[in-house]
Amino acid sequence: MRSAINLEHLESSNLGAGRFYRGYVELLVQDIVNYFQDRTLFQKVPCPGCGGLELTLAYEKMGFAFERCLGCGSIFVNPRPDEVVLDEFNRSSSACRYGRRETLGLTEIQLNHLHGPNIQWLSELMDERFEVSPTLLDYGSSSPYFLNRAMDEFSLSAIVSFRPQLFECQSLAPSGIIFMPEWRDIPDGIDMITAFHSIERMADCRKFFTWAGKNCRKNGLLLLTTTTCSGFEYQVLGEHASNINPINRMNLLSLEALTDQIVAAGFEIVELSTPGRLDVEIVRSAMAAARGKIVEPFWEYLLHFRDEQTFNNLQTFLQMNRLSSFVRIAACKL
Ligand SMILES: [Zn+2]
Repeated sequence: MRSAINLEHLESSNLGAGRFYRGYVELLVQDIVNYFQDRTLFQKVPCPGCGGLELTLAYEKMGFAFERCLGCGSIFVNPRPDEVVLDEFNRSSSACRYGRRETLGLTEIQLNHLHGPNIQWLSELMDERFEVSPTLLDYGSSSPYFLNRAMDEFSLSAIVSFRPQLFECQSLAPSGIIFMPEWRDIPDGIDMITAFHSIERMADCRKFFTWAGKNCRKNGLLLLTTTTCSGFEYQVLGEHASNINPINRMNLLSLEALTDQIVAAGFEIVELSTPGRLDVEIVRSAMAAARGKIVEPFWEYLLHFRDEQTFNNLQTFLQMNRLSSFVRIAACKL
């Protein structure tokens, strides 16, 4: 297994502190009232990390219960809306529409900052692993920019956008993309499957892993980025982590549950890293803002009284030991 540590420009999972996220959350709070008043439609689910049924309440946020699995440590929204309801929420809610509108206003530099690392990662793996032009399937595509760059820069024999989340932005995707809005199998299989920041938003992520195992060709690749509850930020801050909300963090799988599911689906993990670089900074500011509410004496001391050198050492330690909240995994189909 290769353990890549990429310190460059990977804060995309950590945009929680910005103006954008505050605007999104304000709308989200109201959307949740409008869309999810009737909780009788919610489903109680087993742990999305391991299928376990021994669950305990971790915390509540925005009117949703987050449960912790006693078997694998994953944290997830339970009960939860089903996939049809979530799809409609993602399509038409004010918060999600706001998110897409704001993204359209980003500069080329900002877009490259968000998507460049994934483009580069894909490019390196393609050079390393495929001699002829592979097929690429992107689950939950939310960025026309990413699809356009993939089309322009990669030698691919086909690009499939599976269950895209582009909605009113779909016309900005390049022509030639094959859109596949519904779950179905691909008879000839796919060489590369990507799911960037999608696992944490899925109604049923176990369904995705099973699908990927069935539809990825032998020696093909599965590339994921997601957030994990095993990371420092979520371990220390819990529900006080500003970027936890029931829509974008429906599933916070533990690192162990993530890797177990990928292996169970027939893949070998070839790269696993937690390359986030802002965990310490995020936890420092969150604890400073919530002094007295978050009772963690050791971290309170370290993050309040120690200096930059200690903070940098801690962030390096988190990366080296895969304890950052943002995880990146590449796996090869056996
Ligand atoms: Zn579990």
